[in-house]
Amino acid sequence: MASAPLARGRFAPSPTGPLHFGSLVAALGSFLDARRCGGEWWVRIEDVDAPRARSGAADAILRALERFQLHWDGPVLYQSRRTDAYRAALARLLSAGLAYPCTCSRRELAACPRGGDGAPIYPGHCRAGVGHPGRPAAVRLRVDGAAVAFRDAVRGEFRQCLTGEVGDFVIRRADGLFAYQLAVVVDDAAQGITRVVRGADLLDSTPRQIHLQRLLGLPEPAYAHLPVAVDQSGHKLSKQAGAAPLDADDPAPALWAALRFLGQNPPADLRRESPATLLAWARDHWRLASVPTAPCRFWEYPPAPADFANRIESPRRTVDKAKTLD
Ligand code: GLU
Ligand code: ZN
Repeated sequence: MASAPLARGRFAPSPTGPLHFGSLVAALGSFLDARRCGGEWWVRIEDVDAPRARSGAADAILRALERFQLHWDGPVLYQSRRTDAYRAALARLLSAGLAYPCTCSRRELAACPRGGDGAPIYPGHCRAGVGHPGRPAAVRLRVDGAAVAFRDAVRGEFRQCLTGEVGDFVIRRADGLFAYQLAVVVDDAAQGITRVVRGADLLDSTPRQIHLQRLLGLPEPAYAHLPVAVDQSGHKLSKQAGAAPLDADDPAPALWAALRFLGQNPPADLRRESPATLLAWARDHWRLASVPTAPCRFWEYPPAPADFANRIESPRRTVDKAKTLD
């Protein structure tokens, strides 16, 4: 694809539902990070897990980004059309002996200790040959002793021992689907991405991705992991969990709230301005150093009605107050 400019960021939503506040935060953070330094911002639809994709969701996300005035550069890349590129990367890893087939079932691995992402730390049963020839095989990447360290622009130094904390991990599933870890690495390189700005729930995946980049001889982008918006019970706001879709007819309040979430300090009067005006302010004032370093932040969007009334004087409330004053 086109030769990379100085900086190129990306937003890579999975099309499992409409844009919600949590995904807006990731879109806006990566957009401003790229635009602040005059870079490009690309979009990739991560529909590699086709059975989980919801029909119409990708288009709905793209239309919402347009309504929010988050305009992207370059063609939108769909992972569902990238199978050949993933297959080629997989073949290279297999023929170099860096990956191997694994026929262990979920049940057989149930007793293994779990890594940070909740997946079993693979004990290496199939390293010397599959345990159950004839069963459909996943493909795992060998992580032999690899310790990966990198500097995250928000979270600082991050270090992970892949052997002890992750284990040989799946790069193609037994059902034939390519794993997110492989797809994301192949695609970030193909799109010439130099800056990956995304939610802190993916921080734990980054060492795996850097390890794959090194094995495949691909460049390593700079990383910044933003806090993730969680609900009162600590769950990530997500499309699958039914987080409220955003009101694309009135984008400014959500953009304003997302800027606040990201530790930026937009003037209150911009909340009622057009998204273009708000984004122009945000681009000129964006400071990655102001982004909170916590992995998650409790955030309610849209704000609860009581809270909302405290922040924005509704005419009715003003009337009620006047009455009390009488
Ligand atoms: N597709 C992932 C998601 O929607 C994001 C992947 C990434 O930014 O690397 O959570
Ligand atoms: Zn196995």
